[in-house]
Amino acid sequence: MFDVDLLIRGGTIIDPERGVEGPGDLAIRGDKIVACPPGETCRAVRTVDATGCLVTPGLIDHHAHVFGGGTALSIQPDLLLPMGVTTVVDAGSAGTDAFGVFLRAIVQTARIRVLCQLNLSSAGQITEAHPECLDPKHFQPQRIAALVAKYPNLIRGLKIRCGAEVVGEFGLGALTAALEVAGSVGLPLTVHTTNPPCDMGELAAMLRTGDVFCHCFHGKGNTLVGADGRVKPQVRGARSRGVLFDTADARTNHSYPVIAAALADGFKPDIISTDITNSSLFGNMVFGLPVVLSRYLQHGLSLADVIRAATATPARALGLAGTLGTLVPGAQADVAVFALRTRDIRLTNLAGEEMTVSRHLVPQMTVSDGEVVFRQVDFL
Ligand SMILES: [Zn+2]
Repeated sequence: MFDVDLLIRGGTIIDPERGVEGPGDLAIRGDKIVACPPGETCRAVRTVDATGCLVTPGLIDHHAHVFGGGTALSIQPDLLLPMGVTTVVDAGSAGTDAFGVFLRAIVQTARIRVLCQLNLSSAGQITEAHPECLDPKHFQPQRIAALVAKYPNLIRGLKIRCGAEVVGEFGLGALTAALEVAGSVGLPLTVHTTNPPCDMGELAAMLRTGDVFCHCFHGKGNTLVGADGRVKPQVRGARSRGVLFDTADARTNHSYPVIAAALADGFKPDIISTDITNSSLFGNMVFGLPVVLSRYLQHGLSLADVIRAATATPARALGLAGTLGTLVPGAQADVAVFALRTRDIRLTNLAGEEMTVSRHLVPQMTVSDGEVVFRQVDFL
């Protein structure tokens, strides 16, 4: 007899990290995924019937704003648990100055796993009234290095917004300086790319292996698609160097025509994330990660593609492959169960672009560190 705490039976397991997509049972003991040895009977304290549902690794929302109460735009991170999200990465809401509050008020009190990318601007993205200051002379590499050394498991990258209206007179100099700081602390840099102060190819050419090009399908100013309708060669060059392309869609940081052009040219996103804020939570422009993933199903990606982009690939980007974003035995017991429902729902973004989405990942249950933290009332 093999004793486990939770057995999720009868579902279709989708675990792109291992290339698994098919029927199977999933066993959890304590806070880890376990495998029932062949020939043994699995005896569970609690058994859940997931017949007709998809069982995936707990989702990783790789770009969100969850410094609730600390910045104008942020939400409370635990609001994401009922969306099947078990790990969230705060994308630069906090800089060095508010990091202590972010740590104590959010990271240490949230039930969900919160990781972060520290903003190069010491004030972080505290307000929407004006952009953060990105004068490189105010970057604080020593303070950043001290925090990274003290909290290596929490700070997984640095963040800069490289939009023309944010960097202002500093132009690409802000990005050059940010890349230097990121290099000095050995972390990837996440770069916001809407309305860049240069050609997108030039920006992409500056990024290093592991850096994250976020809002990759935005339609503001210069985009990753050239005048010929193809993805720019320097953007492809960045991908072949290992730069990761993250959708971070938000309400306005994606464009359906850009997505269509990129996908028609064979350029899929590496990571799909929400860039969720209090303006988009539960609103039909973003709503939450399952809705954004469902939209990409409609854009033509496969189920394995979209689940990979919200599990295995972000886990790898965070240096946590094999621990998070997979259901391999030994991994953290973070699991999401979804029903795939069919119904036409009209989605609109802030640019006024509309699309109809027909297949929807509807969260049924979320397991975080082996504990059921959410389930739908009719999911038993
Ligand atoms: Zn963002």
